[in-house]
Amino acid sequence: MTMAMMMDRYSTLRGEMRLAEPLARYTSWRVGGPAERCYRPADLADLCAFLRRLPVEEPLFWLGLGSNLLVRDGGIRGTVILTHGALQALAMVEEHTLRVEAGVPCAKVARFSARHDLTGAEFLAGIPGTLGGALAMNAGAWGSETWTRVRAVESVDRHGRRQLRTPEDYEIGYRHVQGPPGEWFVAAYLTLVPGDGAASLGRIRQLLERRSRTQPTGVASCGSVFRNPPGRYAAQLIETAGMKGVCIGAACVSTKHANFILNTGKATAAEIEALLYEVAATVARVHGVPLVTEVQIVGEPGGAGSETHE
Ligand SMILES: Cc1cc2nc3c(=O)[nH]c(=O)nc-3n(C[C@H](O)[C@H](O)[C@H](O)COP(=O)(O)OP(=O)(O)OC[C@H]3O[C@@H](n4cnc5c(N)ncnc54)[C@H](O)[C@@H]3O)c2cc1C
Repeated sequence: MTMAMMMDRYSTLRGEMRLAEPLARYTSWRVGGPAERCYRPADLADLCAFLRRLPVEEPLFWLGLGSNLLVRDGGIRGTVILTHGALQALAMVEEHTLRVEAGVPCAKVARFSARHDLTGAEFLAGIPGTLGGALAMNAGAWGSETWTRVRAVESVDRHGRRQLRTPEDYEIGYRHVQGPPGEWFVAAYLTLVPGDGAASLGRIRQLLERRSRTQPTGVASCGSVFRNPPGRYAAQLIETAGMKGVCIGAACVSTKHANFILNTGKATAAEIEALLYEVAATVARVHGVPLVTEVQIVGEPGGAGSETHE
C-alpha cells in the first residue's frame, strides 16, 4: 500500500498522525530515533476505529510516557500508538472502584484516589508513567504493586475489538505481566480501600520526599535499569562492583543511585545501551550474578534520525 493510500484510509479519524516523529520527544531518557508513523487517538472510540483500518501487516508499538523504554537511535518501524493525552478518562464507577484509561498518568490516579478518601494507590504517585505502562510492567514501589489493586481490565486487539478481562487471564509477577497475545490495555478498574484523604495526601508527600532523597531527580533517566535479582539489590551489586559514576559518552551511572543510568547531556541510545551492557558484564564478573534489564529495549540500532530532546 502506498503512503497516500494509507493516509486516505485514516482521513475520517479524529486523532493526530505524525510521520517520521522523533521518539526522543516521548521518552524520559530523551533518546530514541523516529517512529515511521505515530498516532495519538482522540479517544478510545477513535483508537478502535484506527485499529480497524490498520493494515494487518503493519507493526504496532504502544507507548505511554516512555519512562521504562530505551528506544534505539534507528527508531521504530511501523506505527507507534501514543496513549498519553489520548486515553484520558478517569472516574469513580462504584463506591470504591475507579475506571482509569491507559493514558492517565499514575500520579494523577494517586491524587484522585486520595481526594476521594480512598487508600492503596499512594505508591503510584512516584511512578512517572501511565496506568497502561504500569499494567504492562506491574509497576510497584515500597511493597505495593499495580496488579494487587486491579479488579478487571479492558483490552483491545489490533482489529479494534475490546474485551473485559480479569487478573486470572494474566500471568503476573515481579515487573512481569503476560497476557493473551496481540492485546493491549485500554483501561483498568482499580478497587481501593476507604480511608482518610488527608492522610493519603500526607503519605504521598512523604513517599515523594523519600524518593528525592534516594534517587536522582531532574536528570533524564528511566528509573531502575535492572530488576533486583532474587534476594539481592541491583543497585548494591552495581555499586560494589565499582560502577558508580562510570560514563560512556554522556550516559553515566548515577552516583546517587547506582541502578540509574543518566543522560547527562546529549547521550545517544547507543551510549546508554553500551553502558548498560558494561554494567551487567562487570557485575557478572565481580559478583557472578546475572542482571536482567527492567527497561524495555526496542527499535532499530543506529540511524541518522537519532535526536536528543532537551
Ligand atoms: C525517575 C523514574 C522512577 C521510576 N520509578 C519506578 C518505580 O518506583 N517502580 C516501577 O515499577 N517503575 C518505576 N519507573 C519505571 C516506569 O515509570 C514504569 O515502568 C512505568 O510503569 C512505565 O509506564 P510508561 O507509561 O512510561 O510506559 P512506557 O515506558 O511507555 O512503556 C513500557 C512498556 O509498557 C508497554 N505499554 C505501555 N502502555 C501500554 C498499554 N496501554 N498496553 C500494553 N502495553 C503498554 C510498552 O509497549 C512498553 O513495552 C521509574 C521511571 C523513572 C524515569
